[in-house]
Amino acid sequence: MEELRKHAKELLENKTVAAILAYVEAGPQRTKPAIITKPEDVSKMVFNEYCLNNLAVYLTKARIKNLAKQNGTVMKLGIVAKPCDIHAVVALIQESQLKREDVYIIGMNCHGVVKDFGMEFSGETLASKCVPCETHKPLYYDIVLGEEKQTPAVSDEVLAKMQAIEKMTYEERFEYFKKEFDKCIKCYACRAACPLCYCQRCITDKTIPRWIESSPHSRGNFAWNVVRAFHLSGRCIGCGECERACPMDIPLSLLNRRMTETAKEAFAYVSGRSIETPTLVGSYDVKDSDELFM
Ligand code: SF4
Ligand code: SF4
Ligand code: SF4
Repeated sequence: MEELRKHAKELLENKTVAAILAYVEAGPQRTKPAIITKPEDVSKMVFNEYCLNNLAVYLTKARIKNLAKQNGTVMKLGIVAKPCDIHAVVALIQESQLKREDVYIIGMNCHGVVKDFGMEFSGETLASKCVPCETHKPLYYDIVLGEEKQTPAVSDEVLAKMQAIEKMTYEERFEYFKKEFDKCIKCYACRAACPLCYCQRCITDKTIPRWIESSPHSRGNFAWNVVRAFHLSGRCIGCGECERACPMDIPLSLLNRRMTETAKEAFAYVSGRSIETPTLVGSYDVKDSDELFM
């Protein structure tokens, strides 16, 4: 923690960055996002198993971008980022929403986070995204900080839940998600929490023509969740923030993870892993498979 605060202070004092997107404590076993702009405020910064938010979501927000514009020049924005959050930063660079030189990545070694605030950190409470995590060390960074520790062993129950969906037939999966989407209240918290949902105007807000019905009922709910999954397919970096934000506990990660696996199996592509690689949606190869994956 001290090395993080010391480094953040140096970055702000020598004006390497205009501001740092960071975590600050918000009560026992809880943190919240914060924008640190003054060296004297770095003492509030923390990094632990309760740093759940993916702070990359703020990098495309106009108010945050404006912080970097000072006296006619554009300064860097700093971000404290777990390795999975760095995938989102990379995906934003791949999609031309951000320039690598405009962001200073304080990459944190990570051994996992809890599912939700207020839980004791263990294999039982480990966030589901951490179970298959293959990048506990940052792939891209300006500096790497934090201890390298072992991720706790996961209980059989957590693994069983994750595998159950894979064992379902196509029809069973369809029914399962249809039932889950029926619970949706169209609050769009999933969209607000997603670093890759950065469109100025979302298809669901368009009224002429109205593509997706706005009231929460079966037909519109299904359309919204499936359209969102399409728009994120081959782009989702698996941070799990949409699922965590959902007040109706809809297991959105199960759908997103399947889409990610399909993109990997069909095109050997995983979003946010390489700045140099063109995006899956933005590139075309005559050798691309025409097969439908179900
Ligand atoms: S998915 Fe990996 S990098 Fe992300 S919080 Fe879990 S262990 Fe850390
Ligand atoms: S769809 Fe969900 S898991 Fe994927 S990047 Fe967006 S918030 Fe993260
Ligand atoms: S957060 Fe959940 S309830 Fe809200 S729109 Fe998204 S899926 Fe529906």
